[in-house]
Amino acid sequence: MAPAPRRPLISGNWKMHHNHFEAISLVQKLQYILNDEDHDAVDVSVHPPFTDLRSVQTVIEADDLPIALGAQHCHWEDKGAFTGEVSPAFLAKLNVTYVIAGHSERRELFGETDDMVNRKAKAILAHGMTPILCCGETLEEREAGATDQKVSGQVRAALDGIDAEAVSGLVIAYEPIWAIGTGRTASADDAQAVCATVRSVVAEVAGADAAQSVRIQYGGSVKAANAVELMGQPDIDGALVGGASLVAEDFAGIVRFHQG
Ligand code: PEP
Repeated sequence: MAPAPRRPLISGNWKMHHNHFEAISLVQKLQYILNDEDHDAVDVSVHPPFTDLRSVQTVIEADDLPIALGAQHCHWEDKGAFTGEVSPAFLAKLNVTYVIAGHSERRELFGETDDMVNRKAKAILAHGMTPILCCGETLEEREAGATDQKVSGQVRAALDGIDAEAVSGLVIAYEPIWAIGTGRTASADDAQAVCATVRSVVAEVAGADAAQSVRIQYGGSVKAANAVELMGQPDIDGALVGGASLVAEDFAGIVRFHQG
């Protein structure tokens, strides 16, 4: 039997943009623009700042919107003396579906390590949510020919100790650091090659079925203009979008990649 096709997932990472009023307005605009055909073809998630989550949840649930709520980060413990941190249990209570873990901005600016990403992935799964595990190389690493080594190491570390069934349902986002927020995008061929490497690492650690099911996003200056080519690659199953997710029309333009 042929394996089920992977549903594309387009995720908007709003980073530290939009207060809760702006967040409500953006989700409402997005829903106004997107139609049933879009939602039939593509899964969509939005990842507002923590302070917006409850407001966005209320809008999504009140209007029964087919948009998944996502978070940008969490701690791995459920509770405790971790000033400023957010519990995965609290996110689950808000009906969060996806949680980004190991975004390069968290790794580079806030010292998040592979081990922390692995602990967070396990905590997110334990609360019934789906991690979006980020990996990606710096420009120096790319120029030194170390992309595959860096990305493979990050993926192996993130998946350590997670069983194959759980791996098959999660999302991995390949985000070359030099392409995030810079306007530079990896060529579709380069992005495809690294995403294929990611899938082969998943096959190694969790088996062929998990590798076939896991969804791999590309992230790094994705826009409507480059989305069709990127999403057309066999190992790219969606996009993690920063800047272009802050404006409803721009984000909807990326979701509409499915129209070709
Ligand atoms: C991101 O924030 O994960 C990202 C890919 O940002 P941008 O689309 O702005 O490059």
